[in-house]
Amino acid sequence: EGMLPRPGRRRVLTVANQKGGVGKTTSTVNLAAALALHGLKTLVVDLDPQGNASTALDVDHRSGTPSIYEVLIGEVTLAEAAQPTEQSPNLFCVPATIDLAGAEIELVSMSSRESRLKEAISSEILDQIGVDYVLIDCPPSLGLLTVNAMVAAQEVLIPIQCEYYALEGLGQLLSNIELVQQHLNRELRVSTILLTMYDGRTKLADQVTNEVRNHFGDTVLKTVIPRSVKVSEAPGYGQTVLAYDPGSRGAMSYVDAAKEIAERGAQMEKGSST
Ligand code: ADP
Ligand code: MG
Repeated sequence: EGMLPRPGRRRVLTVANQKGGVGKTTSTVNLAAALALHGLKTLVVDLDPQGNASTALDVDHRSGTPSIYEVLIGEVTLAEAAQPTEQSPNLFCVPATIDLAGAEIELVSMSSRESRLKEAISSEILDQIGVDYVLIDCPPSLGLLTVNAMVAAQEVLIPIQCEYYALEGLGQLLSNIELVQQHLNRELRVSTILLTMYDGRTKLADQVTNEVRNHFGDTVLKTVIPRSVKVSEAPGYGQTVLAYDPGSRGAMSYVDAAKEIAERGAQMEKGSST
């Protein structure tokens, strides 16, 4: 596989949208696999108690497995909880177990409750392993777990499903991001919007696509992820679609999206260094 530009500084992207079923997990694992298969060391952090990203990457996430929960409560380091994956030697995953379901409440009474993930992610260990990309898969809510993800990241990636009500609730997400920017993480910005589950046979899909592009401009990736049975089947085999059917349109579109993300990052770095 060809190489993608390696970021000068590790990129941490939070994949967020408080709506469920819009393609957060699917996009997290497949973009991560695409980056990893193109030579970039990538860590997926599963921050959803449902553990769908852990399932899709086929990593152990039975209750009691060292997971993001133990990381958040300070029992293990991120590196200790990270597991290798079968998808690529460059792809690692910190799993989520059902124990994370209680974290939203447990965190409330903890010190620096909004920045516990940030502290774990900025640890020297990640520098030592040389992780290039961290992708955080958020739960479908705007609670403390998602806030932790936004505090830990430089960038937010918002997947938007090409469906009715695609933009509904987005205002709430954006105002939460603004609050985090103002109070907790100056650096945070929405760098990437990814249109998912595009069905070219429907007029609606094009309407939504146009509406999102008019509203968000260049933040929206040129690549659109098509609705594809292969994409939805892959997690059932503990695989990303890149391993399950590398030649499929779904797999190729995630590779294209990952390339755009990596190349934009390189472009941004150039811009900020001159
Ligand atoms: P979220 O994490 O936002 O809840 P998921 O990534 O789990 O959303 O996706 C929701 C459902 O849609 C899953 O069953 C997934 O397999 C399916 N899905 C996601 N993307 C696609 C796609 N491009 N084509 C077909 N099905 C998809
Ligand atoms: Mg999910």
